[in-house]
Amino acid sequence: MILPIHAYGDSVLRKEADEISAEYPNLKELIDNMFETMYASHGVGLAAPQVGLPIRLFVVDASPFEEDDPNLKGFKRVFINAYIVDEEGDEWEFEEGCLSIPGIREKVSRNEKITIEYMDENFELKEETFDGLAARVIQHEHDHTDGILFVDLINPFRRRLLTKKLSDISKGKVDADYRMKFPKKR
Ligand code: ZN
Repeated sequence: MILPIHAYGDSVLRKEADEISAEYPNLKELIDNMFETMYASHGVGLAAPQVGLPIRLFVVDASPFEEDDPNLKGFKRVFINAYIVDEEGDEWEFEEGCLSIPGIREKVSRNEKITIEYMDENFELKEETFDGLAARVIQHEHDHTDGILFVDLINPFRRRLLTKKLSDISKGKVDADYRMKFPKKR
């Protein structure tokens, strides 16, 4: 089932999300729905707060970036209760977008390499290191579970220029080719 994506301005996107247990109701179905929603909107990652749930869960499938990085072939993961425990390497810029913030893409500077602790869909504890675009996608989604959006990380001047656009998005004055839920739409 495709879920509506909550837009910029929704308070659920600003919460520090809660950890979940293996008994979280209908978890498998939720994960399936999140992948379905992400693919339908052509995203490479989707975090639970974006579908209205303030829990530490996100999914990624970075295989569309395979052309840029062959390591990303079939790179599809579920991250539960994830915490980035180390970030290292040079910062590099990459133009990011977000399904909750349609029509805006901005350069964001992030560390090249991360180490993350998480549980997979079977609640097996993992610790892994990622770099490049895989790290980038994970950093963006992990931020969602801490209530952080990529527009918080761009330079303040660029951010000011986006004020009106962001306000319009929260009111539903934006075109997206997927289903969205707007906090301030009348
Ligand atoms: Zn996002």
